[in-house]
Amino acid sequence: PFEVLVVGGGPGGVAASIYTARKGFRTGIAAERFGGQLNDTLGIENLPGTEYTEGPKLTTNLEQQVKAQDAIDLMNLATASKLVPATQPGGMHEVHMENGAVLKARSLILSTGARWRALGVPGEQDYRNKGVAYCPHCDGPLFKGKSVAVIGGGNSGVEAAIDLAGIVGHVTLVEFDKELRADKVLQDKLRSMSNVDILVNAQTTEITGDGNRVNGLVYKDRASGDEHTVELEGVFVQIGLVPNTEWLKDSDIELSKHGEIVIDGKGATNLPGVFAAGDCTTVPYKQIVVAMGAGSKAALSAFDYLIRNEAV
Ligand code: FAD
Repeated sequence: PFEVLVVGGGPGGVAASIYTARKGFRTGIAAERFGGQLNDTLGIENLPGTEYTEGPKLTTNLEQQVKAQDAIDLMNLATASKLVPATQPGGMHEVHMENGAVLKARSLILSTGARWRALGVPGEQDYRNKGVAYCPHCDGPLFKGKSVAVIGGGNSGVEAAIDLAGIVGHVTLVEFDKELRADKVLQDKLRSMSNVDILVNAQTTEITGDGNRVNGLVYKDRASGDEHTVELEGVFVQIGLVPNTEWLKDSDIELSKHGEIVIDGKGATNLPGVFAAGDCTTVPYKQIVVAMGAGSKAALSAFDYLIRNEAV
């Protein structure tokens, strides 16, 4: 058994494991895909101390740092399917794996991340990182002065459109429903901006490109059934971030209505000895530096828990 088991090998989980290993705890990392969302990320320009890096390179750096710690046992391609929490403080939690193995630890740090909900239209996958983007904080500056669309008229879509309108040349917001669902104050702000068009009742049917980069999108006017094309250079898909917490549904861990693991300011969940960090939690703002900070915080909380609760 481990003293600490980290489930998830993205920036949050890795930061947590570095901290617990340096406290001398035998730490396991079980990760379905080491690096997490970093594997899908091209340029990263908002990680303080690193002017520019790329997701796969940062993943390699994290892996080297993990492997340099004797106290960490990295299990890649290891998918958790069930959590059985300890019955008393200091007891062993169990994480059941898809391959039938059962991993045990006195403290858990859950950092299984999230995934952007995809539109599922032709062109979206082909032009991912070539004009199709999911994170305005990350990729907005790459479209300075250009025309982009934001798909989705909920709070995240409208916030993204407001954010982008200050950076890019022109923003078209495309909403499937008859009206935007974002808070009124956000809608008012968006409508006050001169370089924004809002399309409602519009179903995006395709993202087009020239073979190298995005050059437009096609939408169907749901009232008339007519198809229209918008010429642009970028498409930000903002139809939801889904936490990877399906495997926790039958455990007693508290999840928000969006499926995020509910944590307090110390990264503690409702279950003693079970902590969580990063995009799978209720932490506001899902970013690499935020997940790393949360991971280190959860690790220090796990340390605090372990020194206060004798093994039973
Ligand atoms: P993740 O990175 O999602 O990692 C989750 C880990 O858990 C993975 O190892 C995954 O395989 C594993 N996992 C999931 N389910 C299970 C399971 N059941 N059992 C075991 N393991 C499991 N942020 C920035 O700050 N700057 C950027 O420039 C930037 N660009 C981005 C570009 C793209 C295309 C995307 C998708 C995201 C971008 N982000 C960026 C966001 C950033 O990647 C995330 O905020 C960050 O990776 C979250 O870290 P995490 O450790 O919480 O989760």
